Amino acid sequence: MKILVISDVHSNLNALEAVLKDAGEFDAIWFLGDLVGYGPDPNECIARVRGLPNLVGMMGNHDIAVLNEIDVRDFNQEARQAIIWTQSVLTPENQVYLTSLSEMKVEGQFTLVHGSPRYPIWEYLMDVFSARSSFEHYQTDFCLVGHTHIPVIFQQQVKFPNVRLESPLINQKIDLQARAILNPGSVGQPRDHNPMAAYAILDPHNLTWECRRVPYDIAAVQARMQAVKLPERHTTRLSAGW
Ligand code: ZN
Repeated sequence: MKILVISDVHSNLNALEAVLKDAGEFDAIWFLGDLVGYGPDPNECIARVRGLPNLVGMMGNHDIAVLNEIDVRDFNQEARQAIIWTQSVLTPENQVYLTSLSEMKVEGQFTLVHGSPRYPIWEYLMDVFSARSSFEHYQTDFCLVGHTHIPVIFQQQVKFPNVRLESPLINQKIDLQARAILNPGSVGQPRDHNPMAAYAILDPHNLTWECRRVPYDIAAVQARMQAVKLPERHTTRLSAGW
């Protein structure tokens, strides 16, 4: 069983297509939120993801913001600008699709959320301190999160509540050990100073996890962002991965 795990596509079609091509055949796809925001291709990315077989899709903070369901003043000025632009181009059909995304889902031994099991849409799990308090907020062996745009594993230690932060090696399959919180990184806006699109391959039966990176045409995405006048900072950061 091969599951493609992706997160934080952020309207970046070139990155999404590169990941789908690189991943090859898969049995299911689990998407951990933030299909839109920042990038120039919201409708194209939604259309591509929603058409994939056996998709489980989670709601991210940018998705919910585009739906007008929260106060966009919670976002910084540039992120807000991208959200307002996305709202102006989103088709009614794709808007309806975004409303169908879930806040939290359980698939076998895996809990899926965008941010954290405590605050599924908003909380950032950046360090062992925030991760440590997350373990009591879900029941399964593993929790899959996105939101920080950084591939990471928070491994619960035998001596609870100790938690170890691990930065997974690229293209190296590892055996999963209960309990752990895993982040595949971001497809469309990586922030670990590696500009390549990030994703993971999960085998839920053999309990293996492999973080992967794939290059894509960053300049093409930047040109489209400039054409629709999305914030300059969001454009330049794609080249450096921050
Ligand atoms: Zn995001």
